[in-house]
Amino acid sequence: MLSVEGLEVWFDVPGGELHAVQGVAFDLFPGERMGLVGESGCGKTTTILALMGLLPPSASVAGRVLLDGEDVLAKGEDSVSPHRWRDVAMVFQGAMNAFNPVKTVGSQIVEPMELHGVASGRAARNQAAELLEMVGISGSRADRYPHEFSGGMRQRAAIAMALACSPKVLLADEPTTALDVMVQAQILELLVRLTDDLGLAMILVTHDLPVVAQVCGRAAVMYAGKVAESGPIETLFHDPRHPYTRMLFQATPDLHGDDEVASIPGAPPRLDREVLGCPFHPRCDSAFSRCPVEEPRLREVGDNHTAACHLNDVPMQVAQ
Ligand code: SF4
Repeated sequence: MLSVEGLEVWFDVPGGELHAVQGVAFDLFPGERMGLVGESGCGKTTTILALMGLLPPSASVAGRVLLDGEDVLAKGEDSVSPHRWRDVAMVFQGAMNAFNPVKTVGSQIVEPMELHGVASGRAARNQAAELLEMVGISGSRADRYPHEFSGGMRQRAAIAMALACSPKVLLADEPTTALDVMVQAQILELLVRLTDDLGLAMILVTHDLPVVAQVCGRAAVMYAGKVAESGPIETLFHDPRHPYTRMLFQATPDLHGDDEVASIPGAPPRLDREVLGCPFHPRCDSAFSRCPVEEPRLREVGDNHTAACHLNDVPMQVAQ
């Protein structure tokens, strides 16, 4: 349904360019939930903003984003805007930022419907109330303002707004950030139920591996603007073929286990400078002589499983 091919994003920054997304590629199938995982600054949010055509003017984009075979980036804003909200919709990080504080929540759910000719007037207002009911909010609250909603309700309303035009693909950018644990669980359950019931495909952006494991069947792990590894969640968890994936799992607290949580030392490389060799080599506990001088290629390492690490060329050295 959605095919991303060789996506590149650069930002103009003082003194040069920052290469934020570098050759990202993946396919998303109807009804599938896929996670985009990694630390802050690894290119996850930039990738999905590029799919929506919502990057700032300082950004340059290359590559192809095929939606049912049509390249939505081919003619810039002219080709992407008919699909934004209509076919691909987004739940933004921090629901308060998604709403205009001086307009009612219902009127903001109606806006994309009217803009795309999905519904108007009373029919659109009725649909907005139905969408609120669908996410667990009484439709009678459609005429309330965002500040009259709790954080969890605002996030639910943001999901209702994203569903206003019955999109095929939902992009959810850290949708549970800043919510307490109980509300986080409710929002994740809601996303799973809605995607199942409506047959929606979803890309969930998060740094939180347990969230991806709970919600998604497959994930792409991003590092320094590139996909470092991708595959089914079970495979990534039990047989990671990139040390970054393994170290990310080891850095995740397990409330039921006795294993110590290990942090990943150092920080990701600056993307406004040339990165030589494997971008993870200064932090990698398995690096060897080849790593600082030669960049590993993303290649198949199993069934629906790809990784970009030289260790996969030398099976004897695969870290456990
Ligand atoms: Fe570590 Fe080398 Fe693999 Fe990069 S290529 S992840 S530095 S072992």
